[in-house]
Amino acid sequence: MNRKSPFSYVCNACGRCCHDKVITLSPYDVLRLARAAGITTREAIARYTIRRGSILKFTGDGACAALKGARCGVHRGRPLACRLYPLGIEHAEDQERFVTLESAAGSLGVYGDDGAVNDFLDAQGVAKYLEANAGYASLMAVFRERIAATADFDRVEPREFWRRTVREALAESGYDANPLIDAMFDAGGTGCGGGGDAETIAAHLERLAEMIRGESNAELLAAAAVMLAVSIGYSPGEATGYQ
Ligand code: SF4
Repeated sequence: MNRKSPFSYVCNACGRCCHDKVITLSPYDVLRLARAAGITTREAIARYTIRRGSILKFTGDGACAALKGARCGVHRGRPLACRLYPLGIEHAEDQERFVTLESAAGSLGVYGDDGAVNDFLDAQGVAKYLEANAGYASLMAVFRERIAATADFDRVEPREFWRRTVREALAESGYDANPLIDAMFDAGGTGCGGGGDAETIAAHLERLAEMIRGESNAELLAAAAVMLAVSIGYSPGEATGYQ
């Protein structure tokens, strides 16, 4: 579907879609979660996420860590994926495409065609999130340039290098310390969390670009590049150049 395709969805606040999901978070998602909860980005990472800030945490009974009863406890700052639901967004060759996701078991949500995809996106406040992700996507070129300058591909076979770094970036535990990944999700920890959203993002992007340019460990850079790509909705291949 595209933005003009017929689509509507009425949420009846049953909370069923807030269970048993894998929801990828972007740096902006973490910032918004923190602001909605009135806590720092570092605290939001600990309270609501796993995998270094990049995935929303679901508890032992399958409920999202932010769910309060059947309601979202961070509704104002709910992540992009929650705003889009039950739509998914895909990027291919710079084109966006929307798909309808299967409804959660027992969900009281009602699908329809009383409007267009675009009306739904507007009502959910999606534009700010896509705009923020586009800002973070600009760092992928900075990463590529720095990785090309630091990786010794005469010594390390490129595919093996990227296989290792994708595995490292996407590991849910046992991963190595990576200050770039930490800084990516913890805008406040980089000293950039104080202003409005646009100001915070601009300062955060500048700080991250500075950190990337100052880093000389290619594996660490590559793992952070993969993490960034995945967190803003691209495949690891977009960061690695290897599919
Ligand atoms: S963040 Fe809110 S809307 Fe998203 S899964 Fe958790 S409780 Fe549901």
